[in-house]
Parts: sequence; C-alpha cells; structure tokens
Amino acid sequence: MLIQRGGLKVVAGLGISGVAAVNFLHEHGYRVAVTDSRATPPGHDQIPAAVQASFGQLDEELLLQAEEIVISPGLDPKLPEIQAAAAKGIPIVSEIQILRRATDKPIVAITGSNAKSTVTTLLGLMAKEAGKKVAVGGNLGRPALDLTKDDPELYVLELSSFQLEATSNLAAEVAVVLNMSEDHLDRHGDMMGYHTAKHRIFQAVKKVVFNRDDSLTRPLVPDATPMQSFGLNAPDMNQFGILRDDDGTIWLARGRERLLKSSDMYIQGTHNVANALACLALGEAIGLPLDSMLNTLKTFKGLEHRCEFVKELAGVRYYNDSKGTNIGATLAAIDGLGAAIEAQGGKVAIILGGQGKGQDFTALRDSLNKYAKVAVLIGEDRPIIEKAIAGTTALLHAATLKEAVEICQQHAQANDVVLLSPACASFDMFKGYSERGHQFVDCVNSLA
Ligand code: ADP
Repeated sequence: MLIQRGGLKVVAGLGISGVAAVNFLHEHGYRVAVTDSRATPPGHDQIPAAVQASFGQLDEELLLQAEEIVISPGLDPKLPEIQAAAAKGIPIVSEIQILRRATDKPIVAITGSNAKSTVTTLLGLMAKEAGKKVAVGGNLGRPALDLTKDDPELYVLELSSFQLEATSNLAAEVAVVLNMSEDHLDRHGDMMGYHTAKHRIFQAVKKVVFNRDDSLTRPLVPDATPMQSFGLNAPDMNQFGILRDDDGTIWLARGRERLLKSSDMYIQGTHNVANALACLALGEAIGLPLDSMLNTLKTFKGLEHRCEFVKELAGVRYYNDSKGTNIGATLAAIDGLGAAIEAQGGKVAIILGGQGKGQDFTALRDSLNKYAKVAVLIGEDRPIIEKAIAGTTALLHAATLKEAVEICQQHAQANDVVLLSPACASFDMFKGYSERGHQFVDCVNSLA
C-alpha cells in the first residue's frame, strides 16, 4: 500500500525526464498527474496507470490544482498555462530540484555552453575508475531521477540552462560553468538571461571550479568558498593549466608540476585540453586520486559527433562535429583542427548551417579567414549565415548534406580537413544532431 503524501504534483511535459519524474514521484508515494500538449507524447506508455494523464493540450485546470509543478526541460516556463499557475503562487521546479530534496549525497554539477557532455562523461569515468559508486546523467544519458535507483554515493550531473532555470539552492559539492558563448537566445532572450540561468548552478555551492580564460564563468560566491581554476595558460600554484616545452610539447600541469603530455590523450584539439583540465580540477574537488585520473585521461576516446575522426581519404581527414550546434563549439573545432594542420599548409573545408537560433555569425569571421578554404552552407538559415561571413572564404550552397560533402571533397587536397561543424541546430533537415552526424559519416564512407 503506497503512502499518500501531501498535495498534487503535476509533471508538465512528458518525454524522458518527465517519465522519470512521474515514476519517481509515484514510487515515493506522492499524488501525481501529468500533462503534455502532444496527444501521444513519447513515454506515455511508460507511466503507471494510476497516474492521471491529460494529453493533447497543456491542461491549465490541472496545473492550477497542483501543489507543485515539475516542469520538463523542454517546456518553456513562459508558456501562458505555466505562467497562469506561477501567478497563483504555485511553485515550478525542475526534476533536479526533486533529486536534491531526495538525496543528501554529493552532487557534481556541470554546465556551460559547450563541452558539458564530454566533461560529464569523462569525470564520471574518472570517478568510476577511482572506485566510487557514481551515477552519471541529467541532461545527458539517463535522467537525474532515474539515477536514484542505483543508490550511488556520488552524482555527476550535466545540467542545461533550462533545468537550472527551475532549480534553487542546488548546494552542489562542486559546480562549474565550463564556458559561455551565445546559445539558446531564442529562449533566454539575451546573454544576460542565459548567464543568470547558468549561474544558478552556484547557489549554496560548497566548492567552485571556473575557467580562467572566460571571465563569464567566474561566480560571485562568498569569500570562504574554495575556488579552483583551469585555463590554457601557465597555472598558478595549485591551479590547473598548461606548460609548454621549447620543442612545442604541451603538458597538462598543476602549478609547476607537469602531469601529462597532451599528445598522450586520444581526444584532439586545444578545447579538449581545457576539458581534461576541467575534469582534473573537478576530480580534485571531490577527492579523486591524481594518478587514477591521469590514467583515465590516457584511455578516454571522446564522444561520437564531437570532433570525431571519421576517416582519411587521399590525404584529407574527415571529422564529424555534428554536436557543434552553436558558434562557440564551431569556433573551437575550426581553431583546434585548423591550428593542427596549419604547419603542413592544410586548410579546413567546413559544412555550416541549419537553424541559427538567433546567433550572430559574424563571430566566425576571423577563424574562417584564417583557417578555411571553403564553407559549404546547408539548411534554413543559409542567407543569414552567408551575409554574416561574406568575404571570409569561398562560400557555396548545397541542397543536401551529401552534396555538401561532395563539394568539400572536390575542394580539399592532401593535408586538408573536411569538417561538419554546422554551428546550428539540425531540426530543419534532420531529427537531431545525431542523425545529421550519422548521415555525414555515411556520406563520407561512400566517397570514392
Ligand atoms: P555539450 O554537452 O555542452 O553540448 P559536448 O561535449 O557534447 O558539449 O560538445 C559539444 C560541442 O562543443 C562539440 O562540437 C565539441 O566539439 C565542442 N566542444 C567541446 N569542448 C569544447 C570547449 N571546451 N569549448 C568549446 N567547444 C567545445
């Protein structure tokens, strides 16, 4: 017999994290209802029959009966039905808030415009290899409330700005905003709104990690909060950074101590050096042994669709960076790969475009000028991108991804790189970045 606790919890928006929230709350004895604007939302068949479900429209009447609304990250809190409930003083929280209430175990909280998944995955592996019973998820992989089933001693969570918007006093053991560049302005309005959402991650935080190369990642927290930094420069005592030998060798370093050559890692590009350093700083904050963390760094192969090497054909290397869905990510990919092939006279043939999410594409100009030989534009926001980057490199249009890959092949010669890093969302042409990446890999594999 389940205990019936308190008032009604209404989960707004089903999908993966909504399903986890409904099931978690039901199993913990709460009265739960769920509403979704879709008639048959994904996961509708994965929730208990006892849960009241109202699909086909966001049920305002139901929302107004809630003691608390658990909002899914995909749902905009500015929707009128949600606003109506907020106006009545009904609290609107994320599933992360529910997790925080449900556990007293330490949470490592990771956000940023880019590199969240890479850092979350890598830190999770480090914790695992150091013998911790760790659960990894959140915005990536398993939803946060599903992780409680593992009864872990530590949570490593990737958090999106949407999840953070509805999370207060997270009290993370350690938290980081890895980097800040324009993204999701269509939802947050401007950089200020986006910044405010991200920095909620630091509410009641115990330790902080920040990026020295990006002042927007440094929080205002009480003076006594321990702070650890990482950056792509020589580190001060006890901080993480890089040291260079005269022969150009780059070392990951802690203070003056050289820890690991960047060439001893599989993951490529200076942005991934920054990611590895971020993990070392986070791992130190939760007491992971340095030796064990360095071993993990030597074996980590990186994630699919993030500057993933596909193959080499006629001396041209092809990379799938389909997860490059904003300008910050694409800049990291062009600069990281461009700098690596510059000495051999290599250039980048890049495929750009899709849905631009209101970003200012002129930010790509310098890097394209420096490293690109051609940019092939695809997707809906081609005209906006073309206007913003005109005059930097040769600009061509393609109707399909296949055509774009073929045009790149025609323009590339030995030592060049062909890079899919669109700086845009993919939904105009694909189901998501993963489908776009897989199609790219298929097109590359069918090139002769
Ligand atoms: P997120 O989960 O934040 O989207 P990912 O790890 O999935 O992050 O990487 C997303 C994109 O960002 C990829 O295109 C990747 O190459 C790029 N990227 C990875 N690390 C960085 C970094 N430190 N700075 C900028 N871009 C990065």
